[in-house]
Order: sequence, then C-alpha cells, then structure tokens
Amino acid sequence: MSNGKRTIALSKTSLLKGIQCPKSLYLSKNPPAIELQTDPDLEAKFQTGREVGILAQQLFPGGTVVPFSDLSATEQIAKTRELIEAGAKVIYEASFSFDDIFIKADILVRIGATWEINEVKMSTSVKDPNYDDVAIQYYVVTNSGLPVSKVSLVHINNKYERRGEIDVQQLFTSEDVTEQTLARQEALPKIITDLREALQSYKPAIDIGRYCSDPYDCEFIPYCWQHIPEDSIFSLKGRGINKFDYYSQGIISLEDLPIDKLNKAQKFQTLATINKQDSTNHDGVRDFLDSLWYPLCHLDFETFDTPIPPFDRTRPYQKIPFQYSLHIQEKEGDEPIHFEYLVEPGNDPRRELAEKLIAEIPKDACVLTYNQTFEKGVLKSLAEAFPDLADDINARIENIRDLMIPFRKRDVYRWQMRGSYSIKVVLPALVPELSYEDLSVSDGLMAMRVYHEMCKTNDPVKFTEIREGLFEYCRLDTLAMVKILGELQEIRNNLNQ
Ligand code: SF4
Repeated sequence: MSNGKRTIALSKTSLLKGIQCPKSLYLSKNPPAIELQTDPDLEAKFQTGREVGILAQQLFPGGTVVPFSDLSATEQIAKTRELIEAGAKVIYEASFSFDDIFIKADILVRIGATWEINEVKMSTSVKDPNYDDVAIQYYVVTNSGLPVSKVSLVHINNKYERRGEIDVQQLFTSEDVTEQTLARQEALPKIITDLREALQSYKPAIDIGRYCSDPYDCEFIPYCWQHIPEDSIFSLKGRGINKFDYYSQGIISLEDLPIDKLNKAQKFQTLATINKQDSTNHDGVRDFLDSLWYPLCHLDFETFDTPIPPFDRTRPYQKIPFQYSLHIQEKEGDEPIHFEYLVEPGNDPRRELAEKLIAEIPKDACVLTYNQTFEKGVLKSLAEAFPDLADDINARIENIRDLMIPFRKRDVYRWQMRGSYSIKVVLPALVPELSYEDLSVSDGLMAMRVYHEMCKTNDPVKFTEIREGLFEYCRLDTLAMVKILGELQEIRNNLNQ
C-alpha cells in the first residue's frame, strides 16, 4: 500500500497539525528547548472521545474492531485487508497506509461494491477542520485501492433528551460530506509534499498569526509568543481592531497603538494600563448596592457536562450541577453562615441538590451570583427537570442579582484587571490576601475533571483529597464574593463619611 518512495512517515494528526501551521508540525518533530505545558484535560478528552466512538459503533452493528493497542501499524493494516477480503460488512478502526501516511477510519461500511467512511466526532456540529480530517482519510483509503462512494461525519445531536437507555439513533446525527471531501482531494498531494519539505528544511520562518489559535490553540504558543509582553496589543479585550495588522507594522506595545482607532472600552483599558490608573464611579457602585437586599445569599455552582447524557431527562453537554457553595449574610457586614453540597459519586445529584438549595435559600432572599447567566441557566434546567419544584426554584431565579455588573460596567476598575472582569482577576486586584493560587483545584474546568476522577477512584485517600479540594475551591468562590461585596460597600461608606 506504499508507493515505494522513501518519505517521512506522517499520521493524520500530524498532517492536520501541519495544515494549521507547518511550523507546528516541524516543532512537534523537533521540540524546542522550552518547557511546554501539556493540556491537563487532554487524556480525559481522549477517553470521552473513545467512549463516544464505541457507542457510535452501535449505529452499524456486527462489525469487527481492528485494535490499536495490541497490534503494530503493519499488523493493523494487514488485519483490515484480511477482513475486507473475508467479506466483512462493517469494520471499526479500519487501518490503511498510503504514501507513508497511516490513518484509521472509525467505521467503514460496505455498500455493494464500494465503501462508506464514517468519522465519529463528539462535537455537536461539523467544523471546518473535520473536512480536512475526512479528506485525508479518503485520500489514503482510495489510494490504497479501496473504492469509497460516501463519506459521513457522525456527530452528537444536541437536541436529544435521554429517556431511559441511550438511544444511539437519536443521540447521533450523520452528515454526508462526500462533496466537501472530494473538493479537497486535488490540493492534498501538494499540501503533503510541502509539509514534508518543511520538515526536512530548517525551522519554517513562520511568525505568529491567527492560526496560532484557529482552529485550535497551538501547543507551541509559549515558545513562539515569547517576544510578546504581558501588556501588548494582544492583551486588548474586545473586537474592532485588527491586532495582527498592527503587529505586522511592528506595533506590539500598547503605548504605540493609535488611541483614536480604539473603541471606548479599549481606550479605557489602554490608558489605565499605561498609566497604571485605577478608577471608581461612585454613583454606579451606589446604584448597584441599592439593588441588593438582605438576607443575601452568595451562590456558586460547579457543573459537569458530557456528550453522552448521564441521567434520564438530560441532553448532551447539559450542565449538570454536582456541587454548590452558599454564604448567607443576614445583614450588611455580618459574618456569613456557610452551606455546601457535593454529590456522592454515581448518583444523579439534581433532585437532592435542588431540594437542599430551596431549603437553605430563604424565598425572599437576594441571591447574589458572579455571572448570573450561568447560575440562572443551571436553576432553569432544574426547574424544567422537576416541575413540582419549579415554583420554588423560579422564585430564587427572580431574586438573582449579578456581582459582575459593576466590574463589567467598569464602575470599579483596577489597572491590574487588564480589561477583564472575571472573578479570578477581580479578586486579587481588590482582595489581594485571598487567592486561588495555592488551591489543589483552581478553576471550574479543573473542578469538573477532578470530580470525574473522584467518581472513578477506588483509593479512599485520593477520594478524600479530591473531595476536600473541591469543597475548598467552591467555598473560596462564594467567600470571594462576600469579600468583593464588602469592598464595594467600603467604597460607598467612605464616600458617605
Ligand atoms: S504558535 Fe503559532 S506560529 Fe508557532 S507553531 Fe504554533 S501556530 Fe505556528
């Protein structure tokens, strides 16, 4: 299945990397002398992808798997050929090589004298790089001598709601992408040749560009972006200016930007950063504080989402709350009383969590969140799932206020916020003694990952460690809100004196 020439062996993954940026492919084969951080969620993502792939095989039952782990690439290719010649109708993980490019097709289905390639994705729609993905597969499979008449991308249907056992016909949706696949064939040989040349030459002279994060964040950003300082045109929030246009003109520093070309928020950020200048709009702070009342409940959820709905009446990627933290203040300046909840592994947490929350948050209390869209969304999904609790849940939703607002409106701005109003940025700027830095869990994505680890572990010590880490993290989120609110009240009180 090879054309006999000595070439650099490539995989589909490395080709896709090279299509995004040839330098990225080069650096992956010639790693730079710099410590690169690996994505801590990568293995979990692969594992989820594998589970989705295995489930999708049920769409085409009766196939044989060509295993990746027990066989060499040559053996996988031989096994695939054997199955084809023996008349197999469906092959999972079918393996091929052409021109020293090795690929595995997720699900190969015989249609009369030809075949259909089905590529399974755990996304909820087809994305541009998916076309390159299947185009490479088609190129290798057909040039290996197998006729292919149809190419499909099988992905998650986000409209599906689980009722009982998973219905794979409903969970997945399939799109015929044969046309898009064929349209890419003519260009592929040159792309492959160019990438091989790039690999054999010196490091490609490619500067940073949009492709560093499009379609995916490149792993070599810490290496290629070393010359970009923390405060640069790329740290400007918001759209409206072409940062790479300025960069190509040699403008990197905020000081060098033509200020009149920026929108209002960008001007504000730029001047505040350059002059290290804080600002406070006292009327804005007072108006915001006037919109709150007591008792006041600081609320924060942690959620997880998965492509395969885990419980009855859940949809793919629905945010399912597994934990909350609640600090309640009876009146302004009071020491808060703390409540928290973290589900036991394996259980559907929603009913228990909703009932506990309703019991702990007084019906007439002000509910303070940081980024209300998220908490409101979680509560709405709980109200939909449990109609008998809907009135009580909706009453809490109506009382939600958002602590992010004075920071989003820049009523309170500290130059260290650098245009951001995330609580992770606002907290150290306003309350430097509180920090997420030393916690074992330091953000929501990490909380989701370690929650899954906690559910899987049989080690009681690890279980307790993770559980404590999750409590500590979620507790800090609402304690941070208590402290930030206290800072706003101090600003108002100082003005009143
Ligand atoms: S960081 Fe950008 S320039 Fe560097 S290898 Fe990645 S995509 Fe290419």
